[in-house]
Amino acid sequence: MIASSTPPGGRLVFVTGTGTEVGKTITTAALARAAALRGLTVQTIKPVQTGCAAAPDGTPIGSDADLYREACPNGAAAVLDFYPVPASPHYAAGLVGKRLSADSIAAAIRARQADADITFIEGAGGLLVPLNEAETFADVIAKLPGVQVVLVAANILGAINQVLLTLEALRARGLEPAALVANQSNPAVTMDDTAAAIARDNLSVYRTVGKIPVVATLSHHAALYGEPVELADAKADNEKTRHRDSDRADAWDDASAELQTVVDALTASPNDDNEEEEDVLRQDAAHLWHPYAKTHPPTPVWEAVRTAGTRITLRDGRELVDGMSSWWSAIHGYNHPALMAAIREQVATMPHVMFGGLTHRPAAELARRLVDIAPRGLGRVFFADSGSVAMEVALKMAIQYQHATGHPEKRRFLTPRGGYHGDTIGAMSVCDPVTGMHGLFAGVVPEQIFFDKPACPFHGEFQPESLASLEEAFRLHADGIAAVVLEPVVQGAGGMWFYRPEYLTRLRELCDRHGAILIHDEIATGFGRTGKLFASEWAGVTPDIMAVGKALTGGVMTLSAVLAKDAIAEAISLDGVFMHGPTFMANPLACRVALASLDELFTCHWRDRVRHIEQELAAGLEPLRPAEGVHDVRVLGAIGVVEMTEPVAMDRLMAFFVDQTGAWLRPFGRLIYTMPPYIATDDDIRTITTAIQRAVKEKAWR
Ligand SMILES: *Cc1c(COP(=O)(O)O)cnc(C)c1O
Repeated sequence: MIASSTPPGGRLVFVTGTGTEVGKTITTAALARAAALRGLTVQTIKPVQTGCAAAPDGTPIGSDADLYREACPNGAAAVLDFYPVPASPHYAAGLVGKRLSADSIAAAIRARQADADITFIEGAGGLLVPLNEAETFADVIAKLPGVQVVLVAANILGAINQVLLTLEALRARGLEPAALVANQSNPAVTMDDTAAAIARDNLSVYRTVGKIPVVATLSHHAALYGEPVELADAKADNEKTRHRDSDRADAWDDASAELQTVVDALTASPNDDNEEEEDVLRQDAAHLWHPYAKTHPPTPVWEAVRTAGTRITLRDGRELVDGMSSWWSAIHGYNHPALMAAIREQVATMPHVMFGGLTHRPAAELARRLVDIAPRGLGRVFFADSGSVAMEVALKMAIQYQHATGHPEKRRFLTPRGGYHGDTIGAMSVCDPVTGMHGLFAGVVPEQIFFDKPACPFHGEFQPESLASLEEAFRLHADGIAAVVLEPVVQGAGGMWFYRPEYLTRLRELCDRHGAILIHDEIATGFGRTGKLFASEWAGVTPDIMAVGKALTGGVMTLSAVLAKDAIAEAISLDGVFMHGPTFMANPLACRVALASLDELFTCHWRDRVRHIEQELAAGLEPLRPAEGVHDVRVLGAIGVVEMTEPVAMDRLMAFFVDQTGAWLRPFGRLIYTMPPYIATDDDIRTITTAIQRAVKEKAWR
């Protein structure tokens, strides 16, 4: 596997097999001895052992740890968990009412990682032996960053198929085996000439077809397969015991000598974490540009090496609780197994194919699903690459529609101040003119017509006067307006402002009266974030065009979609073709993972989750209202905002959050805000709200 993601501590080596009884334990023990002979500190871990009784002191009797200790007396050996019934771990654990999980096993291994230069971990049985109803040992491996995998197979007729299947399963999870050990020892097979020829051919197939870099053989060491030495007999049969002990020691020496090439491979790659981190940060500072950032001097960044659930892990091993959902997108948390599985399945058949003239199931199915769940009447779906591009598409649709219906003079957009719609030139033109730096881009960004942001707060009374500026804009410019563009109910990156849904109802009427298209940008608000599936539902309004993105793929891939009323598509089609077609339009991987994300959304009780998060955020943030420097506190759905009276020192505040609170938050302007993943636990939310409370109270934002 890739050594460059090795976290602090020693190397991890996971020994897995093509099945049970292939010689994993002897291989693991011999590898441990070989590594110890190099002067490395070694430990060997069996995470779960079955078929093992407990001694009166609670330790397992006759576990694999005994063999590890025999082979490698200087190394530590541990069985982390054991069960009496000799069966698959999920079954044996289930019999005593326990449920194993990849997370807890991986965490237990990582907790010991720093205890030795190299840690050998022996799985149970083959790679896909289950731990519970959803996870296998492969999931444990995937949760051990930097782990190297050694595959053990019996070197007999029929092994090739098992090896190649296991390789496919490893590679489907992004894992490359560092080495394969072909175990020649199989009591059921007599090593005659034919068997020996087959065994030799197996090895060459592993190298050629399997593309495994190191293939080693482990001979049949008879002494290692003998009866265990009976210590009780030692006195009576002293000579024989000593003899057998020394036989076994010799056999361990021979076995570990055979595995030297494997240990060479396992220890060949550099494992200096500090050097690696500096390397990444140095290259980053030398060559990268980050979002809204300077390169001189470079804006500080942290290196993330791993994500899982609600956690982001940094190179130095620190785990941060995610308060941002990677900018509204990772609603189910990171590395969700169902989403990962969907992508793996899709990548195995068709990662991408052009959408001009071709179609495919992921796109067709996703379009149908989006139409089903979107506000009634949006029957047509155009896929694009990102939120900004979706907005370009939406704006172009409005212009083409007006042209097609005999209004070529309607070419401008009407949009509220405080909006945010993306960073491409067209999308920028409808962003807030001040925060969107329209001055800087004057003459390049088309000039649109702005009206006051919807002033009536979500949690206040609706005030019809809040529409005055909009009505005035219509009065002055009605004949030239192609569309009104806005974010329904929640203005996101432009100010995290929540306003009354009635505003949208009135706006809908005004658009109809003036022949303007209504475009709702639901890129941030879509898929449950505000407490409704789409924010438009707060007002029961169907826009003519709606853009979604961000959470569409659950934060895994970039994809956006523009949904339009059929009438719009029909009108444009009567006039000509719609003038847009990205190269990666409807990318099958992205569509497939979006389908999995929707499935997950509708099984995860998002409405209850979001409502609960709303309560927790309110409980954690409302107390800040009277605090010094706080202008306002707002919570809606799974969005929590503390607006300060002055702009915050973003870099300093982010460092405070990382170093002092363990929360991942990225404030901007006067806003300290959070939109956690829907899977966030009460503890996660408390970590986030406590972090924000401390930032305010300790004045870390100044
Ligand atoms: C993020 C965002 C966009 C832009 O999406 P990108 O994928 O970053 O291009 C557009 N509109 C809204 C409301 C957004 O929050």
